[in-house]
Amino acid sequence: MTKAIRIHANGGPEVMVWEDVPTPEPGPGEALIKHEAIGLNFIDVYFRSGLYKAPNLPLVIGQEGAGTVLAVGANVTNVAVGDRVAYAGPLGGYATERAIPADRLVKLPANIDFKTGAAMMLQGMTAQYLLRRTHAVKSGDTIVVHAAAGGVGLIMCQWAKHLGVTVIGVVSNEEKAALARANGAAHTVIGHATLVSEVKRITGGAMVPVVYDSVGKDTFLASIDCLAPLGLMASYGSASGPVPPVDLGLLAAKGSLFLTRPTLVTYTAKRSDLESVAADLFDVVGSGAVKIRVNQTFALKDAGAAHTALETRKTTGSTVLLP
Ligand code: NDP
Repeated sequence: MTKAIRIHANGGPEVMVWEDVPTPEPGPGEALIKHEAIGLNFIDVYFRSGLYKAPNLPLVIGQEGAGTVLAVGANVTNVAVGDRVAYAGPLGGYATERAIPADRLVKLPANIDFKTGAAMMLQGMTAQYLLRRTHAVKSGDTIVVHAAAGGVGLIMCQWAKHLGVTVIGVVSNEEKAALARANGAAHTVIGHATLVSEVKRITGGAMVPVVYDSVGKDTFLASIDCLAPLGLMASYGSASGPVPPVDLGLLAAKGSLFLTRPTLVTYTAKRSDLESVAADLFDVVGSGAVKIRVNQTFALKDAGAAHTALETRKTTGSTVLLP
């Protein structure tokens, strides 16, 4: 047996139960890994609450971790017993040991510890594809990043600055604003009520070519109003709730805007994409250009308290769960 946090129904943090589950046997193409650290992400809240539909119940939620390969099934060639590995994607993360498709694992470089590895794969690969592919930012650009002091946010601020980009970070209080600035945001705006006027002031009326919005319902319209003509609204999360259906006429009226709802799954679906996105992330973390701020750790069995902290906006940067 091994230990895991499972949900038997959707609901609040109290539906997460710490219990014994059978140790999985790695099937063909799978590896069994022992977690050293597990990443906490907002998507875990969506699967727990039911905003995203659980594929089965009971379900071990969690989509990010780092650890050591204990065993491999048939036809596994990319990892071997004893390898240090990390991943983002497949559900089943909130467990001491888990089976996982081996082609979703990448080897963790020796200069990156397990806690950092578990904290950075999902949030860091998200920052990578958003800044490098969804809209390939250029030196000299000014961009808007919502939840700038959060997990994805602090990585975005540092990485964008490293690429020569001016970040306008949106946060909910002064403490988070100071943190975002310390991590590379050139400007911060508290709340979204003054966001459009602040972006107008900072850009001299030019507005921005891209807004990265992970807040969703509460900020969608303000974000659209921050865009220059032909700008891109990258709506990549729903921390305040999902964006209601959009009238395409709005995009015409606001200047032939583009709108996308990207996911990490699509951007890393091919093994070659996963490898290149992860390699780019390992480069910026390895060089020190981007530091992974693990600002909270919880025991895995206390995942409920970790969810409460994340949902009530008490966390900054990344959070890991320790088995
Ligand atoms: P964060 O650490 O960013 O936490 C969420 C933050 O959102 C909060 O700290 C808070 O910051 C802000 N927020 C604004 N409104 C609310 C609200 N009503 N309730 C709670 N929080 C709110 O989380 P993550 O880094 O894990 O994820 C950030 C976002 O990115 C999430 O929306 C997530 O779904 C999305 N995401 C999307 C991916 C994709 O590929 N599409 C992949 C990874 C993450 P503040 O207090 O400053 O407002």
